[in-house]
Amino acid sequence: MAQTGGDEKEAVKNYFDTAGFERWRKIYGETNEVNKVQLDIRTGHAQTVDKVLRWVDEEGSVAGLTVCDAGCGTGSLAIPLALRGAAVSASDISAAMAGEAERRYQTALSASGSKAPKLAPKFEAMDLESIQGSYHTVTCLDVMIHYPQDKVDGMITHLASLANTRLIISFAPKTLSYSILKRIGELFPGPSKATRAYLHREEDVEAALQRAGFKVTKREMTATSFYFSRLLEAVRV
Ligand code: SAM
Repeated sequence: MAQTGGDEKEAVKNYFDTAGFERWRKIYGETNEVNKVQLDIRTGHAQTVDKVLRWVDEEGSVAGLTVCDAGCGTGSLAIPLALRGAAVSASDISAAMAGEAERRYQTALSASGSKAPKLAPKFEAMDLESIQGSYHTVTCLDVMIHYPQDKVDGMITHLASLANTRLIISFAPKTLSYSILKRIGELFPGPSKATRAYLHREEDVEAALQRAGFKVTKREMTATSFYFSRLLEAVRV
């Protein structure tokens, strides 16, 4: 099984259970209790989620398909997939985030006026390395930023082992310009600096996917002022 660095992983969990939960609950929400930077991140992240949903919709209905959303956060992707009828297993290392995702799902379900689906989604507090099973599609958005380079191969190998057919993954890309921007950002203290952020080279991610038996079939990039995310769809070959 893949492992993230012991103490660092614990720090990420603690952050997303406490101050990080408060911060990201607002960013991934709809209220106006966000500042300009947070609003920009909310906008960029929503674009990434929309791109995934567009890909998924273009390829046909997800109704009845098993989907594992690893590091689900507050459910920004897991909830629309569940409302489309997918059998979603969503999990997050932070119990606070997974609990918020479940609450938001219940609210969204009531607002949609639909009956509870036959395949009710599951929301669990669990680290990515502990996820087991076999799913048609595995999604993992904006989680790799918490993984140092030497842990990424293990992470991708584990996610790939769970996916029968399709893996959709996003990460902050390591390019010269984003590396410079990140260094500039690190000069300013702020609550988002409570955990380290790791950028990753697309070639490295793609090579790990290939070694795990997956071929990249779609790519997208989302870039706003403060949010950068490379999105890949890979299918089992
Ligand atoms: N995927 C969600 C989305 O796009 O809306 C959330 C993205 S948020 C930036 C990162 C999430 O990854 C947090 O909710 C955090 O708790 C979770 N996370 C970080 N490391 C994790 C790990 N090792 N296992 C599971 N979840 C993890």
